[in-house]
Amino acid sequence: MKIEKFKNMEVLDFKSPANKSRMEETLKSVKKEFGKTYKAFIGGKWIDTKDKIASINPSNPSEIVGYVASCTQSEAEMAFDAAWKAFESWKNTRATERASYLFKVAKLMEERRYELDSWMVYEVGKNWTEADGDVAEAIDALNYYGREAIRYSKGYKPYQVPGEKNDVKYIPLGAGVVIPPWNFPVAILTAMTAAAIASGNTVLLKPASISSVIGAKVAEIFCEAGFPDGVFNFVPGSGSKLGDYLVENPKTRFIAFTGSKEVGLRINELAAKPNGQKWIKRVILEMGGKDAIVVDESADLDAAAEGIVVSAFGNQGQKCSACSRVIAVDSIYDKLLAKVIDRSKKIKIGDPSKFENWMGPVSSDEAMKKIMRYIEIGKNEGKLVLGGKRIGDTGFFIEPTIFSEVKGNARIAQEEIFGPVLAFIRAKDFDEAVEIFNGTEYGLTGGAYTKRKDRIKRVKDEFYVGNLYINRKITGALIGVQPFGGFNMSGTDSKAGGRDYLLLFLQAKSIAERI
Ligand code: NDP
Repeated sequence: MKIEKFKNMEVLDFKSPANKSRMEETLKSVKKEFGKTYKAFIGGKWIDTKDKIASINPSNPSEIVGYVASCTQSEAEMAFDAAWKAFESWKNTRATERASYLFKVAKLMEERRYELDSWMVYEVGKNWTEADGDVAEAIDALNYYGREAIRYSKGYKPYQVPGEKNDVKYIPLGAGVVIPPWNFPVAILTAMTAAAIASGNTVLLKPASISSVIGAKVAEIFCEAGFPDGVFNFVPGSGSKLGDYLVENPKTRFIAFTGSKEVGLRINELAAKPNGQKWIKRVILEMGGKDAIVVDESADLDAAAEGIVVSAFGNQGQKCSACSRVIAVDSIYDKLLAKVIDRSKKIKIGDPSKFENWMGPVSSDEAMKKIMRYIEIGKNEGKLVLGGKRIGDTGFFIEPTIFSEVKGNARIAQEEIFGPVLAFIRAKDFDEAVEIFNGTEYGLTGGAYTKRKDRIKRVKDEFYVGNLYINRKITGALIGVQPFGGFNMSGTDSKAGGRDYLLLFLQAKSIAERI
């Protein structure tokens, strides 16, 4: 099989009339599919369940996007059995063959790209470009991890000693559980699943409930790609009801999780307890952030304001990488704040099925209430200088919100809000800015705008985050280009989309043969 060099997918340009009208048509046809029921996929069969998850459109919560099977312990057991049975042959399937399935999924996703984009617009409120970026990232992950699996399958030659042949090869772990978040419902769900499967493992995928219809659409594509029965199992269900069971289960060999700190830490704790299994469960955790951009007096303030607004309010601030703190040095603080407010006022908010709306709704009623609670907290911790209100009373729309004069240790500067709320913090100088930057329990993304070479060096040396950006936005890491993962309470620094990632789904076997 000839495999071309990996290349990132370009995101569609919806300003092109052809792309725009195709998207409008697809949105219409997808809407006609609302209200359908989707099954679980276990051991190569579509399985119905008694209970269902009802997934809504956050722009208009009375619309049910679809009903998805809600698995119980008995379906989970079926899936574990199917996954372990499939593992026996999948682990010995050549890496090139495993990769070819992934490449097929990538092709199918590309064909159904507008459709997947449309489901995301409706089910999680993404704008068109954000939605397409999500699909492009999923396709990248499939293409990248397929190639990585082939690379890892070669193992490596360690140093040799006389009279022996020494080798290191990588073998998969077994059957594991993949638990993605709702906010990159195609990209992260696909990427974690693809990495596990490419490495020779088999998977139980439990999508986030909020985005379970999109999960079902991706499951249809994995099914169409024709993996052997049991390699890929789609086991939707409520995290709070089914999550612990999957994590604690002695049949779970590994857990790949992306989501909140609270759930991640719980998984870490539960998975650590032996429960009759003979392995230590491998746990891969990617969690939240309290990401910041520092701006100094030498920076291009227009570029900084642009980067801040896109990083803070893209996808309504619901990205782990979103900028939720700006730390500006005193001398340019007021000027920068004015520019950021000015740009933020121009943001169009509304139903993202209309192209002109750049910001859509937040994901759920619960998320909206949580964000509004933080806005109330913010009123006592800073000065509300923009937004702060819900828009209308139908969808879950919240204005882009900015608080100024926030202290670095305030709650809205320390806790992940996961919404369109930005805290502006004043630093007396660059030294203090660095201290504030590093002064949270998280360490995911962050960046700085500065033209000074000495400052750029300090940013590279002293900013303690897994993904650092200089003079650009701090969101939108590309697979294969900016491996992604954070320090401290942001996770296990798994570096998704990088050369180290597949190693997390493998174990190394050292073989010495006397000759
Ligand atoms: P949650 O932690 O609420 O949920 C994540 C997943 O965990 C969902 O599938 C959820 O299922 C499931 N879950 C919930 N409870 C349990 C449990 N007890 N055991 C096992 N699984 C459980 O996060 P969100 O989906 O709201 O995603 C947002 C969070 O994800 C933010 O904190 C964000 O920063 C983080 N994130 C991190 C990224 C990174 O790379 N570091 C990337 C993207 C997001 P259900 O939906 O059914 O409750």
